[in-house]
Amino acid sequence: MISNSDLQARKDAATPRGVGVLSDFFAARAENAELWDVEGRRYIDFASGIAVNNVGHRHPRVVAAVREQLDHVMHTSYQVVPYAGYVELAEKINARAPGEFKKKTAFFTTGAEAVENAVKIARLATGRSGVIAFGGAFHGRTLMGMALTGKVASYKTGFGAMPPEVFHAPFPSALQGIGTTDALRGLEHIFRSDIDPQRVAAIIFEPIQGEGGFHPAPTDFVLELTRICDAHRILLIADEIQTGFGRTGKLFAMEHHGVAADVMTFAKSLAGGMPLSGVTGRAEVMDAAPPGGLGGTYAGNPLAIAAAHAVLDVIDNERLVERSALLGLQLRERLARIAAVVPELREVRGAGSMIAAEFCKPGSNEPDTEFAKGVIARARELGLILLSCGAYGNAIRFLYPLTIPQPVFDEALDILAAALGAQPAPAGRAASPAPAIA
Ligand code: PMP
Repeated sequence: MISNSDLQARKDAATPRGVGVLSDFFAARAENAELWDVEGRRYIDFASGIAVNNVGHRHPRVVAAVREQLDHVMHTSYQVVPYAGYVELAEKINARAPGEFKKKTAFFTTGAEAVENAVKIARLATGRSGVIAFGGAFHGRTLMGMALTGKVASYKTGFGAMPPEVFHAPFPSALQGIGTTDALRGLEHIFRSDIDPQRVAAIIFEPIQGEGGFHPAPTDFVLELTRICDAHRILLIADEIQTGFGRTGKLFAMEHHGVAADVMTFAKSLAGGMPLSGVTGRAEVMDAAPPGGLGGTYAGNPLAIAAAHAVLDVIDNERLVERSALLGLQLRERLARIAAVVPELREVRGAGSMIAAEFCKPGSNEPDTEFAKGVIARARELGLILLSCGAYGNAIRFLYPLTIPQPVFDEALDILAAALGAQPAPAGRAASPAPAIA
């Protein structure tokens, strides 16, 4: 049998350390919310491939849709020979994205690529070049994505000069003592010190910051952003790459605020694990780029598009938006009970099933990164995959599939409580073979 340690040694020899890997085991199979490593050990997956598997690993409808598509067309490059699925998916997303205006959608492959294209589109549509993002934001690892990202280590350190005309304002965070007024003052400061608002093409923000620590943008802040953008004819871009497709208890997180951005980026859970991203926006804005200005060889690949149609059906048929809200409440209740006995658990925040717990030294707001790391390591030993987030890596985010069966969810919460030291660990787990492929 191939072992995790053999693979680990080969990985270290064959691949660069810059592609940081959290787990010391290698995936062999996955099904809904469970994953088995190459040695047959079972894990409950509360990472979902970084918020990609909202409909779980290998949802049968998604697998069937991809299989069916395989028998027809795998790749033409949409820009060479188009196919109906792309157009139909654009129609569906135009209809469901927030905003009572005519929209158009273009598809890409990764989240960073969607962000890059949203900025390109905004620059063309406005004839301006400045872009404002927020501290703690994450928008990708490409050059512009990296420049927009509001965290230096280890995303920007040593990677040289960033693209110009990108500025960062503070993002609201109650725990860090940054309120809506402080954040807006930061924005005003940029307009006074760095760039005339008349030269700003776009303000880009995450309705709930993902990598930055699951900080939700307060509604008064979002409303004020839309007002400022309208006043200066700046385009507002909502990066829904991590928040989209039911994660926050709404199909898109902007629905929590009752307003729409001019442009929205999305990726991750759209296609159940197939690489697909997109940009949706006001039709006249999206049409600013001339033919050939947007696209990519693989952008809107037929297999990924087929998967996305199935994902949208699953979200509707299994009422996953409602389930997201329900599971989030259950998690919050459990964390509230744990907080009573674990003084390091300082704050629980988020919306729907986009929830994080932040850990601080007891009785203070001083980040306790080591505590969070210890919890993640203990949970992994007990068979639960968790991810950290936040400026100091001292928050743990919970990104379980929204399709997770209730008993598996309950089991995961027991493991979490044990990893936090709030209850004894469940009985030792033996390596268990993955079930046969259905
Ligand atoms: N924007 C946000 C909000 C994200 O969470 C991410 C990925 N974590 C990205 C952009 C970049 O997406 P990708 O890794 O697919 O390029």
